[in-house]
Amino acid sequence: MRKGLVAANWKMNGQKAVNSALLEALKAGLVGDIGIEVLVCPPSVYLSQVSELLTGSRIFLGAQNVHPAESGAFTGEISSPMLRDLGCSHVIVGHSERRELFGESDGFVAEKFAAALAAELVPVLCVGETRKQRETGETEKVVLRQLDAVIDHCGVDAFKQAVIAYEPVWAIGTGLTATPDQAQEVHALLRSHLADIDQVTAAGIRILYGGSVKGANANELFAQQDIDGALVGGASLDAEEFLTICRSFR
Ligand code: PEP
Repeated sequence: MRKGLVAANWKMNGQKAVNSALLEALKAGLVGDIGIEVLVCPPSVYLSQVSELLTGSRIFLGAQNVHPAESGAFTGEISSPMLRDLGCSHVIVGHSERRELFGESDGFVAEKFAAALAAELVPVLCVGETRKQRETGETEKVVLRQLDAVIDHCGVDAFKQAVIAYEPVWAIGTGLTATPDQAQEVHALLRSHLADIDQVTAAGIRILYGGSVKGANANELFAQQDIDGALVGGASLDAEEFLTICRSFR
């Protein structure tokens, strides 16, 4: 039985006072064991602040990005050991905004994934197709290529300590959500691809859906067999909306 995971990707949003108010509301709304794991990924400059604010809570702390190297001449970058040092347990790798806006290749994402694991961080690997790729029937090819790049670099066993997020690019921040059937189809594909190599890993891995998840659509997405939670962008900035999503997981 896979435990649900709902992750907040704040992207480049937040300020100290805003973060504090948001986290106080989340902590108050998530008392006791709600049966799922909750993860918050603030901008890296606020990781220390958020780490302190989360002390004593069950909410996990994650980063939105990491560099593959442990240290060195990489101005502006942040390493996995640094993220551990700041109290992170997870890190997002391969988000479509990083792939598209910052030119991150499948190979570079795989290196980040490996670096995260080496520092005992849980990588949250994002995969997903663009609108054009969906329209031209390339969804399967694209998401499996993105997944295979990591399997080839790290081995399938690496997915025992990882999370996958299927995030159709056309649904991110657009208000368009994949239908539950569309999402389930890709989640099942990803799981069966892993199962062809290792059934135990495939059965255990959590595959999140991301792309305009809101309180209003979370229930029907979470009802799908292979959807184990959500990676939430915009709606994670609103405490009540995010809590509604968390509570929708059964
Ligand atoms: C995301 O940033 O990963 C995301 C899914 O964003 P949104 O929920 O705003 O579509």
